[in-house]
Amino acid sequence: MTTPDPLADAPLPILPGRESLCGLSDDQVTDWLARRDQPSYRGQQVRQWIFARGAESISDMTDLPSELREQLANEFDLFTGQVVQHQVAGDRTEKLLVELVDGKQVECVLMREPRRWTACISTQVGCAMGCVFCASGLLGLDRNLSRTEILEQVLRLTRRLEPGERLTNIVVMGIGEPLANLTQLLEALEEVHAEDGLGLSPRRITISTVGLPKGIRQLAEIGRPYNLAVSLHAPNDELRNRLVPVNEQIGIDAILEAADEFFERTGRRVTYEYVLLSETNDQPRHARQLAALLSNRKAHVNLIPMNNVDVLRWTCPGEPQTQRFATILEEAGVATTVRKRKGADIDAACGQLRLTNLKNGVPKGTQPGVR
Ligand code: SAH
Repeated sequence: MTTPDPLADAPLPILPGRESLCGLSDDQVTDWLARRDQPSYRGQQVRQWIFARGAESISDMTDLPSELREQLANEFDLFTGQVVQHQVAGDRTEKLLVELVDGKQVECVLMREPRRWTACISTQVGCAMGCVFCASGLLGLDRNLSRTEILEQVLRLTRRLEPGERLTNIVVMGIGEPLANLTQLLEALEEVHAEDGLGLSPRRITISTVGLPKGIRQLAEIGRPYNLAVSLHAPNDELRNRLVPVNEQIGIDAILEAADEFFERTGRRVTYEYVLLSETNDQPRHARQLAALLSNRKAHVNLIPMNNVDVLRWTCPGEPQTQRFATILEEAGVATTVRKRKGADIDAACGQLRLTNLKNGVPKGTQPGVR
């Protein structure tokens, strides 16, 4: 048996099922309506229902004539996927498990902070990168998500917002490697940026990558000011090869070089994510080595206390070790933050909910939130 190449393109199958209305481009909606002799403002109404007015189904679009609603419903669903599980944490972080049209599942999360509402979205079913502390890749990669499946997660999460809340940020830090599915991701994000979409600027969107140099360069070339976060997790190749196996084919130098180019091109400071694993990459010597790599770069380090994953042996270091690590970086002049834990009382580690359900099987239909 050959081991699949983690850097090979992932499949995007032709999916079964009906088309979804939110998967149509503006032009496609306009064409569809024009062919039915509908005035063009109907297209704007449909988009408003999808992006601003939180329709859950076509029948909610009450300012469309009922005959038109019927015609639309005969041909389309509003969404392709179904929310099959919904968890609400004590800090009001909400996690949705979405079942896709082929029965596969992905997760997305809404995080709440004062005046900041962030959607965390997935880009693939599973992941090929094999990071040893991550639940998402334990069963390897299944397939890429389509642009619509990516967009739908954002839209589903906007439906969880309450009056007075609005989506302000997106982090592409859910299941999968975004730069291995960049085309679909960027198409979905175009709808997010559109004035008559969600109107969210690229500056409010962070794309997190294991560090694929080719993808980082492609992202730099499109010239949009996205925030780039690189999941480094180790300050030398020997350790990184163990924690992030795909690194064997890449190497830290090549990643830093591509990230430097991203910075030169976009002017956006790169964030380096570093999941702290007790007794593994959390020692002072690791912090000093990381500081040496980054202190002459315009970089920011985000230290992430590991979320425990049931089946994995890695654990999160204590507060003092985390602080000691942060202080060494700061004293070397590297801007450093420690990520706040959100949704700690639900299956917080990304990919864990899907994994649990793959093992147990989850019944269809939304389950009540757990508090
Ligand atoms: N594949 C991309 C994006 C998805 S993972 C990437 O590697 O960046 C998003 C972030 O969560 C990454 O930094 C990843 O390393 C981190 N992560 C994965 N498992 C984690 C865990 N158990 N605890 C804390 N962070 C984790």
